[in-house]
Amino acid sequence: DERLWAEGLKLLRTLADAGHEAYMVGGSVRDRLIGRPLHDIDIATSALPEAVQALFPRTLPTGLQHGTVTVIVDGDPFEVTTYRTESGYSDSRRPDEVAFVTDVREDLSRRDFTFNAMAVGLDGALLDPFGGREDLSAGIVRTVGRAADRFGEDALRMLRAIRFGAEFGFELASDTWEGIATHKQRLSHVAMERVGAEWDKMIAGQGPDQACAWLQHSGLLVHLKERLPSLTAARIDGWGLANARAIRLAAIDGIDVRWAAYWIGVGASEADALSACKTLRMSGKRSARIAAAVGFERRLADGRTGGPALLEGCDQRNWIEAVLDYGVPAAEDWLAIEVSVRGFEGLAERDWLAAMPITRVGQLAVRGDELSKLLGRSPGPWVARLLRALLSEVAHGKLPNEKADLTLAARNWITRMLPPE
Ligand code: ATP
Ligand code: MG
Repeated sequence: DERLWAEGLKLLRTLADAGHEAYMVGGSVRDRLIGRPLHDIDIATSALPEAVQALFPRTLPTGLQHGTVTVIVDGDPFEVTTYRTESGYSDSRRPDEVAFVTDVREDLSRRDFTFNAMAVGLDGALLDPFGGREDLSAGIVRTVGRAADRFGEDALRMLRAIRFGAEFGFELASDTWEGIATHKQRLSHVAMERVGAEWDKMIAGQGPDQACAWLQHSGLLVHLKERLPSLTAARIDGWGLANARAIRLAAIDGIDVRWAAYWIGVGASEADALSACKTLRMSGKRSARIAAAVGFERRLADGRTGGPALLEGCDQRNWIEAVLDYGVPAAEDWLAIEVSVRGFEGLAERDWLAAMPITRVGQLAVRGDELSKLLGRSPGPWVARLLRALLSEVAHGKLPNEKADLTLAARNWITRMLPPE
């Protein structure tokens, strides 16, 4: 942290020596004041992007049209942005127009919240025109200027207000809540990748349960319904129910496991969770992992007799079948959720898992093409069904994982399940 900050100061020095103003701004100034670890440092400067590029040996043209150049110092990236104002977010993605300005205060005034609109220069003095420091110590999220105006410019800021509030354990200023009440329906126009990025940070952060509760109570979530059909009204309200069932995202390690717990909590199906994750622009890999843990739980819930999800013990046979359908990683994620919800150790399930001779078709001692040759049947969709059936037998400890035993069992299965060829 100190090293990063010192590197930032060096960068300010280089800019100052060339006759430019420069300040550390935004999240790093805020995080340093409240003693949170820094992850990156943003710098605002009077220098134009070309001047910044000319001053440093290693730069990337990150967003030249918005005035941003990434400067690499000792492998660490610094975003250096020319003082600017913005006007209009008609597409709710990026400002229509960016104008470079000469006064750092003007740059600070375009920023969203008072505690994000502070700057520190080379002399170490804090520039805090909107009372960010006071709001930090009082624990208040407050917009720079009237919330209704600022949310009207960029509706994403409503999510950011909730994110910062939940993250820091702050309250939202009443004007900020009123701004959300006025503009919440505008969330339906904000680009899904921006929504996804903010929501992801909420789930990953320090206050995921508060964030989800606020998203629901504020009425914001309702305005994602059109683009996230899996978030039915019942499910949005279902989050309260999930909380009542003691799902606490904060007690779960890992962002994807938390997401799975969220979808389980609101009662989404595996397919709905998958499509919601994709709509929120998560990678295919993340979406699949999250959906698999949801699927695992749904698979168990189907096998239970009417018991509420996540509160009932499960039977061994069902549980092992779920492992075979969804894989060991999904089982591990499910266990992590269960442990956090029920406070149990999952000892029985861990024993069952450890006792499974194999967990995947690929571990069978015979391959599908071998079987179809040995049994003299032309390959087809039946092969996958057969292998899955053999997997079950072996995984439940009813059949040794030996080629001869598997071939014999396969022959029986074919006689029972398939018409003669
Ligand atoms: P984090 O620690 O989550 O990165 P951050 O404050 O650095 O927090 P960023 O999204 O990285 O947040 O944005 C950097 C800075 O840019 C903010 O501190 C804020 O000053 C400004 N900013 C970002 N997004 C907006 C926005 N939508 N409207 C106004 N200002 C914004
Ligand atoms: Mg940041």
